[in-house]
Amino acid sequence: MTSSFFPPQRTLMGPGPSDVSPRVLGALSRPTIGHLDPLFVQLMDEVKSLLQQAFQTDNELTLPVSAPGSAGMEACFVNLISPGDKVIVCQNGVFGGRMKENVERCGASAIMVEDTWGEPVSIDKARAAFDQHPDASILAFVHAETSTGVRSDAGALCALAQERGALSIVDTVTSLGGIAVEVDNWGADAVYSGTQKCLSCVPGISPVTFSGRAVERIQARQHKVQSWFLDMQLVMGYWGANTKRAYHHTAPVNAVYALHESLLMLQDEGLEHAHQRHWRNHLALVAGLEAMGLSMAVSPEHRLPQLNLVSIPEGVDDAAVRVALLNDFDLEIGAGLGALAGKTWRIGLMGHSSCTRNVLFCLSALESVLTRQGADVVQGVAQAAAEAAYA
Ligand SMILES: *Cc1c(COP(=O)(O)O)cnc(C)c1O
Repeated sequence: MTSSFFPPQRTLMGPGPSDVSPRVLGALSRPTIGHLDPLFVQLMDEVKSLLQQAFQTDNELTLPVSAPGSAGMEACFVNLISPGDKVIVCQNGVFGGRMKENVERCGASAIMVEDTWGEPVSIDKARAAFDQHPDASILAFVHAETSTGVRSDAGALCALAQERGALSIVDTVTSLGGIAVEVDNWGADAVYSGTQKCLSCVPGISPVTFSGRAVERIQARQHKVQSWFLDMQLVMGYWGANTKRAYHHTAPVNAVYALHESLLMLQDEGLEHAHQRHWRNHLALVAGLEAMGLSMAVSPEHRLPQLNLVSIPEGVDDAAVRVALLNDFDLEIGAGLGALAGKTWRIGLMGHSSCTRNVLFCLSALESVLTRQGADVVQGVAQAAAEAAYA
């Protein structure tokens, strides 16, 4: 007999999803209303305006795509790219590879700019790619690479695209809510994010925003967008301003309540304060890990406070540690990816997960699991080091 599913209460400190705030879970369980109910339409308008604040933009075309971050990614690519286009894709981790895949599926060619995983995107290499391919119409890159915990200079890359008459596509799935995402200041053209990383919300929605230039490009398209569901011209009829809302699909009504609540929490805390909280907890975690004898795999100036790449000490069984953390402590941390698999862990401090309690809990759980496994760690000092960092 199958029965109701009751998940355990885990602490989520991996690359996402991260802990969801009880306030958001509460909003999720409120009564479902019709997606064209005037009250829901009002809520849609509030969500759009809260998203503009989070993205720091006045872009009119700012809305939540009714599907996870990967759909927001695809929405940006399929709407801005036509067959035969040339797109410069900067790759310094897993998600740049997904961008390449999107470009090619649009019938366009991807000019790859490769950087070492664990390093930021090189502006000089991106500039050289434009020198070689002056007809490239788009520059795409990931602001916060979740696979490595590295931040790239979004402002400089968007400026480069503008200077070369190209549009920019920026992945801010892991950045939004954790570090500054300044869409208008950067002059970014198509930006997508996700609800499950630093917004403390459930997985499954992808906020996107398009600049005026991007909207012009979409309106001038000669070739139909290959995806009916993600065609922004159609989606705008559903979410757009000054239109009588036309049925396109049914928004995930309760998930939109959740997103609304999480964006209100971000507004209440203030963007600046939210970013400071992510830094404070990051610095305390790093202080604790280093006191224990572990080392960070990314150099300090490129680190993301919300995703910490930790080198696994020689001789330690990666999977056994993660399994013990999950089984004995209900604590999830992330494995390394690609070339970093088996060599690193990814400890997330995203959104609601970024708190003192989680930092101290993770340090003590990791210390006991590593000690049990006979790893060479310094015992009994990590908590004090973290506390000192907070003080
Ligand atoms: C998580 C993530 C995505 C994909 O989001 P999903 O919600 O898993 O579809 C895309 N880009 C980056 C940088 C991410 O971290």
